[in-house]
Amino acid sequence: MPEAAPTAERTKGLRGLKGKNVLVTGGSSGIGQAIAVRFAEYGSNVAINYLRQPEEARETEEQVHACIAKVQQEGVQDVLVQGDVSQEDDVVRMVGEAVQGLGGLDLLVNNAGIQISRPSEELDSAAFDKVLAVNLRGSFLCAREAIRHFLAEQKPGVIINVSSVHQLIPKPNYLGYSTSKGGMQNLTRTLALEYAAKGIRVNGVGPGATVTPINRAWIDDPEKRAQVEEHIPMQRAGDADEMAGVTAFLASDDAAYITGQTIFVDGGLTLYPSFLMPWSSE
Ligand code: NAD
Repeated sequence: MPEAAPTAERTKGLRGLKGKNVLVTGGSSGIGQAIAVRFAEYGSNVAINYLRQPEEARETEEQVHACIAKVQQEGVQDVLVQGDVSQEDDVVRMVGEAVQGLGGLDLLVNNAGIQISRPSEELDSAAFDKVLAVNLRGSFLCAREAIRHFLAEQKPGVIINVSSVHQLIPKPNYLGYSTSKGGMQNLTRTLALEYAAKGIRVNGVGPGATVTPINRAWIDDPEKRAQVEEHIPMQRAGDADEMAGVTAFLASDDAAYITGQTIFVDGGLTLYPSFLMPWSSE
């Protein structure tokens, strides 16, 4: 029996992303950069947020342009928007610039994040506050501004929060980080419930150990990298593009009935790997 011909939509990738306007925070490197490029591949217009200097975002912008040329998607635009997501005034201005630059906003990816390593008894309150301010408060502020826009325009919208396996798994010596990512679960679930009837979906992506600049401490050191990878059931770190694929899926109409969920993209890290060897009941 001949196979069914794929629909035109299917050959073009995920449904409902072409022509959508997406803002990616922390889009100048790592996972955010891969997400921006992936959305461009699917025909979305992208607003790429960077923290300080436009140069931080140039590499992403070049990749977006290269990607646009590659997939020959006419009319795909990109715009660079500066802003510190922890600063309310910056976020209000930045979301406004994204809306103006792209001609609207349909999707927000809260990706910007930092971590500070210190034994908790030595952690000063400023360091704790800083991580919470970027990772959690920043996601709230950006989500609030995006939701205000969706409601004002009376249109559906999608928010994807880039969380972490540390939404579930404790991370000793990174108290601010694991607290912020734990909070992100309730940020995702609460906003999802609050706005489900308005056509606004809110989901999370929970990366495991991923090869990006945030992990500069181990990615280029073969010994340290092996140490990290031996804890992962799939025995390798993930790459940013693997996070981007799931983010795009959750943002697309293929995930139209999913809200309030976090999908862990972690090579099995959240599966309690130490239970692979029986030790508790034998
Ligand atoms: P990264 O350091 O390359 O990216 C972080 C981005 O956030 C950078 O572009 C940085 O400029 C931006 N940023 C930092 N502070 C900001 C601020 N105040 N305002 C705006 N932008 C700011 O690292 P990454 O791995 O790509 O991290 C992206 C997200 O993925 C983070 O939320 C991180 O917690 C999460 N994550 C990463 C891993 C991993 O192993 N790489 C694992 C789990 C979760």
